[in-house]
Amino acid sequence: MTTAENSVLKPEYEKDLYEYQQNRIHQLYRDFVDLNQATNQRLIKYCPKCGVENPETTKGGNANSGKPMLRCCSCGKRFVYDSGMLTFYSHQDESQWADFIKETLSGTSIKDCAALIDVSERTAFRMRHKLMDFLNEAAKEDLEKSPLSNEIECDETYYHECHKGLKDRALADVEDRIYWYENYPCTSEVSVEAVVKQIDELQEERDAIIAKQHEKKRGISSDLACVVTSIERQGDAAVMATNMAKPTSDDIRKAAAVIEDGSFVFIDGATAYLSVLAEKNCNFSICPSDETYDAVNHLNTVNSLHSKMNEWMRRYRGVSTIYLNRYAALFHFVHKYRDCDKQEMTLLILKVLNRVQHYFFDRMMYIKEIFADPQVMEHRASKVSIWDQRRSRKQMRTEMKRGSSFA
Ligand SMILES: [Zn+2]
Repeated sequence: MTTAENSVLKPEYEKDLYEYQQNRIHQLYRDFVDLNQATNQRLIKYCPKCGVENPETTKGGNANSGKPMLRCCSCGKRFVYDSGMLTFYSHQDESQWADFIKETLSGTSIKDCAALIDVSERTAFRMRHKLMDFLNEAAKEDLEKSPLSNEIECDETYYHECHKGLKDRALADVEDRIYWYENYPCTSEVSVEAVVKQIDELQEERDAIIAKQHEKKRGISSDLACVVTSIERQGDAAVMATNMAKPTSDDIRKAAAVIEDGSFVFIDGATAYLSVLAEKNCNFSICPSDETYDAVNHLNTVNSLHSKMNEWMRRYRGVSTIYLNRYAALFHFVHKYRDCDKQEMTLLILKVLNRVQHYFFDRMMYIKEIFADPQVMEHRASKVSIWDQRRSRKQMRTEMKRGSSFA
């Protein structure tokens, strides 16, 4: 019941509505006010200086940057109010970040995001990865707090290994050499024909490398990244890239940590799941193929999520394999708030992020160890060490300048 003074509805509209309709409008109004307040309320989990949990703080003046500071009552040290937030160590303010989150949720490319909030592309790239790393933390906390329960569908999907921005070293080397020959100043000593011949040879070499790469990608080979998805029917989803190729039971154990013990799980019959589900005292039903599906035993929910995920990943024009889990975290929230308007989704995400205290620095941008298996890491590290790549390319260019590679 609402009284006339605190009603958000004008009296002339109130008479047109039943009481339950008025109550619903008031409830919605209160929810929105709560949401707006929550996006401004920060929860400091621990003091960044001494680590005491839920610290009491007093005002501590301003930092040189002008940001207000807080003083921890147990250690007496000061820290900026946004320590461990998105805006920490960032020149962009809250409103720019809010716009950026909104654009990211709409699938806007980094280039367009950069133009919209007036920062460089490099900064926008860094912002996107910082945001996704925060969301990764938030998603972990979210699923720890409320694990998937009741009826759950589990299945895996595969993504081609993609090194967006990080090409295969052999391919990059060949492309560098082609570029060098294409810009080679022809003198009387070196004929044009010789250079053209070199370029033709190198182009053949490049085509061979590309053809080899494509050949590798047929079937479930070790070049496919496996993403294990668990989804509660009518509820949240947990998406996690676990490994290359088919998942082992250890991979499933990691991914199934988000499932509450004693749930009922629908699977496609992959043996890797069976032991893990037994450990968690989960009952399960095996739905091997479309023909065996009925009204209850099916994997339609998880399959439709996979196709949504594919469509969604396409909007970002190829997601590099090493960043799959970061994008998976973003997708977790996009799915969670799927019924909300983009603006509301942004507010909800800001609310979630206010409860996260996380530190993201530039050195964490290029992650190597999304897959915890050391063997896989080794395999990946050999492929994706971009610093090595850059160093070797630089070395090669210096050698080329010296003219040692041109005979
Ligand atoms: Zn302290």
